[in-house]
Amino acid sequence: MWRRFDGRSAAVLLSTAGSLPLPLFAILDRSLTREGGLVPLVAVWVFTVVVFTTTFVVGRLSDRLFTVFGLIGMVGIAVGAWAVSDPVSSGVVMTLLGAIPAIAAMSSSRRVVIMFAVIAIICAVVVAFMTPSTVVGMLVRSGSGVANVVIPVFIVSALRSSLEVSMQRYAVLGDTDPLTGLLNRRGFLARSGGFLGEVADARQQIGFLLIDVDHFKDINDRLGHAAGDAVLVDTVRAILRSAPRGSLIGRFGGEEFVVLCSVPGQAALSDAAETIRTTVSATTAVTVSLGGVAAPLSVSRTGTTNISDVVDHLTHLADRWVYVAKSAGRNRVVCLSTSPIHYVAGDAEPPRMFAPTPR
Ligand code: GH3
Ligand code: MG
Ligand code: MG
Repeated sequence: MWRRFDGRSAAVLLSTAGSLPLPLFAILDRSLTREGGLVPLVAVWVFTVVVFTTTFVVGRLSDRLFTVFGLIGMVGIAVGAWAVSDPVSSGVVMTLLGAIPAIAAMSSSRRVVIMFAVIAIICAVVVAFMTPSTVVGMLVRSGSGVANVVIPVFIVSALRSSLEVSMQRYAVLGDTDPLTGLLNRRGFLARSGGFLGEVADARQQIGFLLIDVDHFKDINDRLGHAAGDAVLVDTVRAILRSAPRGSLIGRFGGEEFVVLCSVPGQAALSDAAETIRTTVSATTAVTVSLGGVAAPLSVSRTGTTNISDVVDHLTHLADRWVYVAKSAGRNRVVCLSTSPIHYVAGDAEPPRMFAPTPR
């Protein structure tokens, strides 16, 4: 049941529920309100009930509704603080003013947070100067009103940014292979859709290479797993250096890498694969066998994206040609054309060139 509410709605519910009794007290004890203060207080109370009920019913407030409620709410708090004649009670009501910009800082845009904070500060200062007191008293009330707004907004904003940084870091970690820094299968898939869209827009063919290190188990057996890891990192460096510019490169398995690139046709893909093969054999302790597929691409923008099926299909075909390359003696390239591939764009992420630095 409580899952219906996000953090912002929960905070609105708590603060409105908590502030509901305050105007009621003033209504019940007429000595608490100043002359002409009862009507505005009743209006504030009705508005608070409306906000509480609406939030409870809709569960998650839209940005627009929150902004409207927040703005009216701040004015309501200021009016309520003015309407209460007892300075202590008025001060208590004023402390609620800081809650609204702080709630905004949880998830609203920076612009909205600044707008809320500025309006709250203006309300705090205006009410401080409308409350009969000495000049020093007014200044102290203004100062504490400003601090009451700025400090919670600052704390919530700082917490929010550190949370966003952590979430970004986890998102990158979740998409990345820790040994080589390449995209893992998940990260590769997440970016493939946008990549295919770009290839189609450029009226190019899609080129897909599967690269498998030859006799890699021997390296592990002879030199140990750590040395094997170092060889994998060297191999990735060679692939990054020699793959066509703008390629999407990933690590799909232990010693298997994939390259998705834009090519005019099968001959260009064979040339690219040959460049990778020679670079790896010239700069590392191993050789690689490459299977490649070049295919024309058709894209439709409606329907559920089939990017996972497309990449699986390309991998399946390329794997077959890797097998042929291995059977023919390894350290070789087998690239073929295949029938057009139909890609349903759906909601794919935009393409991103990923050029990590291997450890
Ligand atoms: P082939 O030429 O037929 O591809 O032979 P291969 O030895 O390369 O292929 P095989 O699939 O038999 O062996 C792959 C080896 O890669 C087995 C596995 O232990 C090793 N391996 C997988 N992931 C890693 C890794 O992250 N680090 C290291 N050092 N080895 C790995
Ligand atoms: Mg393999
Ligand atoms: Mg292998």
